[in-house]
Amino acid sequence: MTIIARKDFTLDNLYKQQIRTALVSWFEEEKRDLPWRKTTDPYKIWVSEVMLQQTKVDTVIPYYERFIMKYPSLASLANAPEEELLKQWEGLGYYSRARNLQAGVKEVVETYESVVPSTRKEISKLKGVGPYTAGAVLSIAYGVPEHAVDGNVMRVLSRLLLIHEDIAKPKTKKIFEEAVMELIDEENPSAFNQGLMELGAVICTPTKPKCLLCPVREYCTAFFEGKQEELPVKTIIKKTKIHKVKSVVIQSADGKVLLEKRSSKGLLASLWQFPMVELPTKNYSIEKIIANDYKVNVKIGEELAAFKHIFSHLVWEMESFEAQLETEMELPSTCKWFTIEEINNQPMPVPVLKIWSAWKERNL
Ligand code: SF4
Repeated sequence: MTIIARKDFTLDNLYKQQIRTALVSWFEEEKRDLPWRKTTDPYKIWVSEVMLQQTKVDTVIPYYERFIMKYPSLASLANAPEEELLKQWEGLGYYSRARNLQAGVKEVVETYESVVPSTRKEISKLKGVGPYTAGAVLSIAYGVPEHAVDGNVMRVLSRLLLIHEDIAKPKTKKIFEEAVMELIDEENPSAFNQGLMELGAVICTPTKPKCLLCPVREYCTAFFEGKQEELPVKTIIKKTKIHKVKSVVIQSADGKVLLEKRSSKGLLASLWQFPMVELPTKNYSIEKIIANDYKVNVKIGEELAAFKHIFSHLVWEMESFEAQLETEMELPSTCKWFTIEEINNQPMPVPVLKIWSAWKERNL
């Protein structure tokens, strides 16, 4: 198996057994007293796992208790009016979770004679049941040795086994699922999986893990190498910025068109574009901003083209217009008038070429 980056020993059977024993006995002794840990009813485990997605344990407890009181069985949830269900869920957020849960429960009632399926293949077909929820229900309710890998589990295992793969990449999850399947306690998969989750929640925390209290410290490679805080590797996915830009093809009385050269550094460096502005608010007129930035007074005409141009972490939502020059002050040094023939020879980025094509179609 290639997941193990350990230098000093391999993932042999003794090592696996030691981790299992340490983790399971620690969980059995130290586990927090949570309401869904008092049952092995697959329906209730399912409800708790759905509620716990993106939500803290303390927040979930009262919701879970009220919900199970109101809908104690699959049938009671399957028959609940949607409005009432959403009211029960109010404040938990991510309301699609509640709708999907009810849809999945209805499928169990209608297709599986009210018995939650006990194989990964079947349970995974239910609405809203992803690989994590499937594994959690199967292992906790039915004692099936199946992986249930979430962010907590990936953090713990990346440290324990020194896995450097980037957990921000979806395909990395498979490596951790394989790791769990290799390590899992076949005798007690419920305590093993919950032990990993619990360890991640209370000991092997994202920052400042409490290694001195950790039941698997003796087997933890990151601890030995002092790399706890470096793992897991998680690249930050940058949010795409959206810029709403207006571009104006300004023509002078003698038929020339104004271009601006972009900065020699950064995005589309040194390419030519038509004057381009971002309006701070809707109340600003393009004319005013153009006059301010380019020192020309113009009369805006028809819209030429509107489209999105997508860069790696940036989107231009472009609108372009034609315009006639009225008066000219002192042009910025980056701007210049060109004849139409000359413009055809200037290097321009794709979105600017699109605008130019639209202008030519209309004017030539
Ligand atoms: Fe996490 Fe520290 Fe335990 Fe390793 S020893 S699993 S880093 S808490």
